[in-house]
Amino acid sequence: MDKDFKLFDEVIMKKDHACGTNLWIITRNGADVKIKCRYCGREIMMDRLEFIKKLKKVIKFEETEDEKKD
Ligand SMILES: [Zn+2]
Repeated sequence: MDKDFKLFDEVIMKKDHACGTNLWIITRNGADVKIKCRYCGREIMMDRLEFIKKLKKVIKFEETEDEKKD
C-alpha cells in the first residue's frame, strides 16, 4: 500500500463529510492524524491506522519530493 501523505496535503476520504464535501487538509500528522474539512472547517482526529483505512486519495500540495520511508 502506498498511501504517502504529509502535513497540509489535501485528501479525499472514502466517505463524504456530513456537510456534503469530501476534501480535507491534514493539519496534524503523527501517531494521530487530524484532518480539517475544506468546506465547513470542522476537524476530526483519528489514529493513523484508522486514517489510512478511511483514506481514499491524497492530493499532493506540492511537487513530489523524495519518497519518504519510515
Ligand atoms: Zn465538512
